[in-house]
Amino acid sequence: MEKYQKYGINPLLISIATDQVLINVSPRPTVAMLPGKYSKIVYKHIKAVNSEFPENIFRLTCEACGRSGDYDLGTLVIPTDNLEHHNEIEKIQALGYFRCKHCNAAGKWELSARVKAILVAKVAAAVLSNAIETGMSQGVVFGKALINKEFSPRWGNEAEDYFLEKLAQNPNNAYLWNRLGNTYCRGKRPELAVCAHEQAVIKDMEQIESHFSLGKILIECGELEKASEHLRQAVAFSYKYKQLPAYDLREIVVEALEILLSIYNQSDNQIDMLPRPSEWENNHFVKNQIAATAIHDFEVDFNCRETLYPLAEVYLGERRNELPPEARSIQTQVRKKAWPVVSKVNKQKPPKKNKKRKKR
Ligand SMILES: [Zn+2]
Repeated sequence: MEKYQKYGINPLLISIATDQVLINVSPRPTVAMLPGKYSKIVYKHIKAVNSEFPENIFRLTCEACGRSGDYDLGTLVIPTDNLEHHNEIEKIQALGYFRCKHCNAAGKWELSARVKAILVAKVAAAVLSNAIETGMSQGVVFGKALINKEFSPRWGNEAEDYFLEKLAQNPNNAYLWNRLGNTYCRGKRPELAVCAHEQAVIKDMEQIESHFSLGKILIECGELEKASEHLRQAVAFSYKYKQLPAYDLREIVVEALEILLSIYNQSDNQIDMLPRPSEWENNHFVKNQIAATAIHDFEVDFNCRETLYPLAEVYLGERRNELPPEARSIQTQVRKKAWPVVSKVNKQKPPKKNKKRKKR
């Protein structure tokens, strides 16, 4: 097996991402064949990046070639209804993305009686430990994984197929590339995730969810400079991003700022925390933002996430108006102290004489 070929890669991914006819792509591609600059870096740190996901290694038989191998199924999603029926095992969803080690096929897998028995035992253990209430236990989640509320993939590669099919028709759709990137990320294939997210930001440099995901993966690989570049862009373009509700958008910006602050500290203040003017495409907005930042005089506390909310809301621009008033942090700041000029004018406006007259 060649270097960079330990885990299978779908030739169709490379065909769509590089705009090549499928027949010209190797049937067993390596990481080195993926377009973009991050896949090889991330591949070297794959264990560190995946540490947040559970490991569920099972022996499966590929129906295409009839050979068996051990595969990491990743997070297992188990339906909550009819748990006592053993045939429900067929309905377990595996979010891990893997392909046959022998023939690179993906999709048709045979579960031996022994594997089924282990899965049943795993489900029973999760039930006993009250995983249904707590949501997760022993690498098992109860519920149903759905894509776009319509498709429930059994294996990670079915989720990949869903997006690749759409991308084949619409290869410039940055949002689809972003969703494919998330699928690979959950599938414990961060080297494929960064490939898809890089495509997303090439197609649309304002795809902030992909910038954010690239930043989060790259920081796990110790790539502070590159991570901060993407996180700053996630912050800079957030005010234009329409794919998320304002509340979720703010959470992303806050988390990006939190990581940026830690990079700034780790780099001895060498790596910028806030977007540079060159990273904005709209200069008018930059001036407004700089003015707004100056007015608010933020006190950012490294240990307190809450202190980043007002700053995040400045970057949200007009989208912060979509937050319910009680959830906005900037407004409370404004009332308290941000615009002393306004309160002065209000106090001074009624001349003293008038006041006296009114009283009498
Ligand atoms: Zn096979």
